[in-house]
Amino acid sequence: MEDIVKLLPDIIANQIAAGEVVQRPSSVVKELMENAVDAGANRVQLIVKDAGKTWIQVIDNGCGMTDTDARMSFERHATSKIRKPEDLYHIRTMGFRGEALASIAAVSQVEMRTRMELNKVGTQLIIEAGIFISQDPTAANPGTSITVKNLFYNVPARRNFLKSNAAETRHIIDEFQRVALAHPNISFTFHHNGAELFHLKEGNLRQRVVAMFGHPYNERLVPIEEKTTVLTIYGFIGKPETAKKMRGEQFLFVNNRFIKSHYLHHAIVTAYDEMIPSDAHPLYTIFLDIDPARIDVNVHPTKQEIKFDDEKIIYTFVHTAVKHSLGKYSVSPTLDFDQETAFSNMNQALQAAPKTISSETLAPSSYTDARLPDKSSASPTYWKSLYEEAKQNKTTVYTIPSKWEQEDRVLFNQEEQHQDGQIAFQIHNQYILSQIKSGYIIADQQAAHERVLFDQYLKYLSGQKISTQQQLFPVQITLNQSDALLLADVMDELKQLGFDIHPFGGTTYVIHGAPSEVLTGQEQEALEKILDAYKQSQELKHNRREAVARAFAKLNCIKHGKSLSEKECRFLLDELFACENPYYTPDGSPTFITYSIRDLEKQFSGKS
Ligand code: ADP
Ligand code: MG
Repeated sequence: MEDIVKLLPDIIANQIAAGEVVQRPSSVVKELMENAVDAGANRVQLIVKDAGKTWIQVIDNGCGMTDTDARMSFERHATSKIRKPEDLYHIRTMGFRGEALASIAAVSQVEMRTRMELNKVGTQLIIEAGIFISQDPTAANPGTSITVKNLFYNVPARRNFLKSNAAETRHIIDEFQRVALAHPNISFTFHHNGAELFHLKEGNLRQRVVAMFGHPYNERLVPIEEKTTVLTIYGFIGKPETAKKMRGEQFLFVNNRFIKSHYLHHAIVTAYDEMIPSDAHPLYTIFLDIDPARIDVNVHPTKQEIKFDDEKIIYTFVHTAVKHSLGKYSVSPTLDFDQETAFSNMNQALQAAPKTISSETLAPSSYTDARLPDKSSASPTYWKSLYEEAKQNKTTVYTIPSKWEQEDRVLFNQEEQHQDGQIAFQIHNQYILSQIKSGYIIADQQAAHERVLFDQYLKYLSGQKISTQQQLFPVQITLNQSDALLLADVMDELKQLGFDIHPFGGTTYVIHGAPSEVLTGQEQEALEKILDAYKQSQELKHNRREAVARAFAKLNCIKHGKSLSEKECRFLLDELFACENPYYTPDGSPTFITYSIRDLEKQFSGKS
């Protein structure tokens, strides 16, 4: 009988591997950019068309390749990065498997031009769907340029699976940012459909972060830096008040490689404690250097996940380091325990520990209990009051006194229509209590106002004109790249809401006018908040108009903690009950709860 077990032909093996390595255009961007960095380039250019669906090109000025190496690099398991058995640990820590180029070439049309500095001519290689087409000598600059055209053109199922251009572009930006943040000493540019999205000069990490996210970030960053013999942490974290609802500005690198770790994210975020709302994410760009010989680091080659043998120690280290920075830069009140001691204790523990530290000997739960204050001793009330204060400051900015004062006259007239006893008053600067026929209601002032504003903004967006306050001096703002993309998305809606915005090249815009709710000087912050809320709403697949109305209502509504006069309370309730659906916020939280007088009577008479 004929043997039926056969080796898979390389072409098919590569296509299978491609399924793992190349998920979407951004995976190609990641692999090509990492190769450019590995090649020792100090200038890397990324050029993308149609969200990478038709064109992804990375040009570097790195070491280049010989003719043979150029051809070899597309072979499966071809890598120049592992030569000695000791290098094998790079597979675990860096993920070098020599599979990327072969996988990419299996599902696209690739053109590579490369030249080593010492050679006079370079070589040009063309490969389509994993099949070698041609190789010819060519004039080329020193370094390498790889172009990946029509990704998945030979795998229609994969191609159809790709998301919208906006979504794929966002993935590419993510990957670009990860590589660029990890290498501030290399200059990077990124062009999409002919427009320059990023132009990052070489510099230090702070300069890179600011160049990446925009100038205002210079003010938002707090440095972080701690060192033990085994672990080093450095980078920047965001001040608590700049935390955003949407994730997207969280970058964690282990041994200079971007990784995703819910566990360590938790370590960072919980260090902010009560300084940020529970649903907000602080910005961070944190680098963790770990001696791989001391602590076992295991990186999944493509999935950007990591496993540590001693997760708990690393957790405590990261958590404490973030707390320390927040305290040191008096972003948070200094803790009533000595963090210096905590670190030196940890250092000693690490020194004394056997080569591989077992999590049991230093389980952070016990470690934490011993060294870190428990919450009550860290005076949470003080922290809370600080946070409340911060919150209050913000609400004074974003509430809408001007409009409410204008309505005062109307209010006085309405007052006469109010029957006796229908007074409304505020409790705890948060709720409004008012009598109704069958009992009483308690409304949540923030939720109620959000509903009122949402309805109002929807009307504006469907054509009713809102008044724009023309700026005496136009304001120039610069957004980060992903915010700029979002802004382009909702430009029309923002105009209808009263923003008079014009593009000014790159990600810079000039604001000539803003809705009266937005105070002068707060334009950029307001816009960023709208875009942040819009991004969330968009993920929930609301239509654009509704998403913008929601975002703007969230931004401008009266917040908890804002004290309201009795008149204002009544006015708010009137407006709420004039809404078509007064019962819920646009997100579906209740705006008020009804209590019946009967229940009260029952409770007082002791009957149930
Ligand atoms: P790996 O990066 O895991 O080695 P790749 O498939 O990404 O595998 O690349 C294969 C080999 O091709 C690399 O090891 C390197 O020698 C060579 N190579 C790829 N891209 C470049 C580049 N931009 N400049 C120089 N050499 C490169
Ligand atoms: Mg590679």
